[in-house]
Amino acid sequence: MEDPNCPNYNSCRLVNLQDFKFQDTTRKKYIEIYCSTGEANWNSCKRYLTKKTLGFCPDFVLPDTTLSLNEIIEKFDEESLT
Ligand code: SF4
Repeated sequence: MEDPNCPNYNSCRLVNLQDFKFQDTTRKKYIEIYCSTGEANWNSCKRYLTKKTLGFCPDFVLPDTTLSLNEIIEKFDEESLT
């Protein structure tokens, strides 16, 4: 049987940092919807797609972030300059 967890499950900051940006209930909801319920779900996570393409994922990117990868790169660059 296939592992239902995202390949990034053990390293993703959203899963593993207890105080990642929001309350625990929100974090748990994201984990239920995206992280631990099969490939179709984690494969639609913007954090997963960002890490797959860029090799890392900034904290401001959430599973349902609607920014494109280019917009994420631009925002990351802007934040790095401030
Ligand atoms: S937030 Fe996305 S990248 Fe992180 S473990 Fe969940 S599905 Fe994977």
